[in-house]
Amino acid sequence: MAEAKIDPASITVLALTHAHQDHVHGLLTPDGRVLFPNLKAIVIPEAAVESFFAYAHLAQFRPLLKPVQNGDQVGERLRAVALPGHAAGHTGYAFDTDEDRFLFFGDIVHVPALQFGNPAFSWGYDDDQLTARATRLKVFSDAAEAGTWIGGAHLGWPGIGRVVRKGEAYGYEPAEGRVTG
Ligand SMILES: [Zn+2]
Repeated sequence: MAEAKIDPASITVLALTHAHQDHVHGLLTPDGRVLFPNLKAIVIPEAAVESFFAYAHLAQFRPLLKPVQNGDQVGERLRAVALPGHAAGHTGYAFDTDEDRFLFFGDIVHVPALQFGNPAFSWGYDDDQLTARATRLKVFSDAAEAGTWIGGAHLGWPGIGRVVRKGEAYGYEPAEGRVTG
């Protein structure tokens, strides 16, 4: 966010893909301060609310939770898309502009160097590995077909790119360019 010159104080709504700790603990800074002082709402998959409530140190955020289900309109041009398998309620967010489609897909991919070339590889942090695999295969296929930009928490810098079909498998092309100005 610092590199993109986005002030955390300008953020009023967050959308969580699931409630694993590496996706929610950033609500607080390492020394325990609230990172987003003007947060008004935290969009969260309904099935992930229980997991969020398990974090006692995040109790102050519970009143902000806005549970959503598959297909719900989250904001202008932003829609919740169920991506089952990885964790309870695991949900992506599809964002369409007039020119481009984006899918912020949470933890569909954990190890980019392996999983684009071997999309059947699941791993131990997928709650339901068979379902996670089927979801990943469908996301890759659809995104490659439509030229959808994908964004994921474990894709590495810059976190956004495109999936391209390579025979029976896929490749990942990170978005080019660096934020300047
Ligand atoms: Zn996760």
